[in-house]
Amino acid sequence: MPGPNPATITSARICPNCDGFATAAIPAGTRHRDGTRVLLHVDCGTCHGAGTVPLRPRLTMADVEVAA
Ligand SMILES: [Zn+2]
Repeated sequence: MPGPNPATITSARICPNCDGFATAAIPAGTRHRDGTRVLLHVDCGTCHGAGTVPLRPRLTMADVEVAA
């Protein structure tokens, strides 16, 4: 991982639905007066535009909660 800080345990993971690309720009098929395309920005339905989802708690055989 690049950067000065080592990887640490985080409380979120990359969204499995959008793979971290939380917002898509979709051409609407029309153009503005200046000729640029009209784009619709749509957020991922799973992460709601965040790109990450919270970790699900997992239970071990001993019913001890650990991070997924
Ligand atoms: Zn997502």
